Amino acid sequence: MIPFNKPFLVGKETQYIEQAVKSGKISGDGSFTKKCQAFFETKFGFKKALLTTSCTDALEMTAMLMDIKPGDEVIVPSYTFVSTALAFARQGAKIVFADSRSDHPGIDEKSVENLITKKTKAIIIVHYAGVACDMDIIMDIADKHDLLVVEDAAQAIDSYYKDKPLGSIGHFGVFSFHETKNIISGEGGLITINDKKFIVRAEIIWEKGTNRSAFFKGEVDKYGWVDTGSSFLPSELIAAFLYAQLEHLQEIQKKRILLWNTYAEELASLQQKGKIIKPVFPEFATNNAHMFYIVVKNLKERDDLLKHLKNNGVHAVFHYLSLHKSKYYLQTIKGEVQNLPEADRYTECLIRLPLFYNLEEHQVRYIVQSINQFFK
Ligand SMILES: *Cc1c(COP(=O)(O)O)cnc(C)c1O
Repeated sequence: MIPFNKPFLVGKETQYIEQAVKSGKISGDGSFTKKCQAFFETKFGFKKALLTTSCTDALEMTAMLMDIKPGDEVIVPSYTFVSTALAFARQGAKIVFADSRSDHPGIDEKSVENLITKKTKAIIIVHYAGVACDMDIIMDIADKHDLLVVEDAAQAIDSYYKDKPLGSIGHFGVFSFHETKNIISGEGGLITINDKKFIVRAEIIWEKGTNRSAFFKGEVDKYGWVDTGSSFLPSELIAAFLYAQLEHLQEIQKKRILLWNTYAEELASLQQKGKIIKPVFPEFATNNAHMFYIVVKNLKERDDLLKHLKNNGVHAVFHYLSLHKSKYYLQTIKGEVQNLPEADRYTECLIRLPLFYNLEEHQVRYIVQSINQFFK
């Protein structure tokens, strides 16, 4: 069986963990945490980068930093992972879902302005599959209506919009190092703060509502409880693992892109015959090879193809169940019924194919052969 995903270890993870253990400093904000954060700030130009224990945590931090309260409205794409909406719903915000583009599962940028009311506080966008949303449109709308923007870049490490790294454009960016992402630490995440005025408070919220960071920098002579927050920082063991991975970022990306391109070439003829739709890249977006997906005609074809692949030893999966149809949104928080046909279509018709570092090109060719056979 070709699995859907298999975590890739670069080799030095356990050595760095051992180094952290032996150093005697295993809680958070130690030398590996600082090395990882410096890596992100230097390589991608984020004004401030703070490691978190997950992308979900990083999203929760943005909700606290933006002071999201009951009565506020937050615009979120429906076709995304639960956390993109949950982080704001748990602060009591009303979630207003946006539809996907017809040519891509990402948010339909042009539909966003119509969703804004006097109560709107923030726009959350997701760079689905690491493919950039049109950030000029989003940032213009945000400027015009005085809103804050969070880039959910969970899937978007080392991907760019018009040469700008994703996660560096909105007021905040969030990343995930869950074992299914390009760079991993088991569970793990990152928040980027691109608007300087939020940095001091971000460090406080990160450290359980205390000004401990300022204390250790010698900026205050004692530390105490000064704000809301939680324990968002990961232990040094996780940071040590992550740092080993970051040292191999380019190598990992190169291999993933090679596999991605193999899929794209091998699937070209099925696309030409109109049987499937391959991922689309607007000219402003790069490919970080986070995911290879195809879109088929309908739910039945999707389920039949998944079954066919399984019978051929290939574990492919469908992806998000659009959140505007979820039980929690409709029944528990009594969200408004929204008609989002594109999000529904991706829920029913999108298939993700196996893509991980140790997948081999001949396996990609085998997977495509199985797909071709299905359509014959
Ligand atoms: C993976 C993912 C998340 C959640 O990341 P965790 O680190 O598991 O919390 C959030 N949003 C998107 C778009 C994701 O792909």
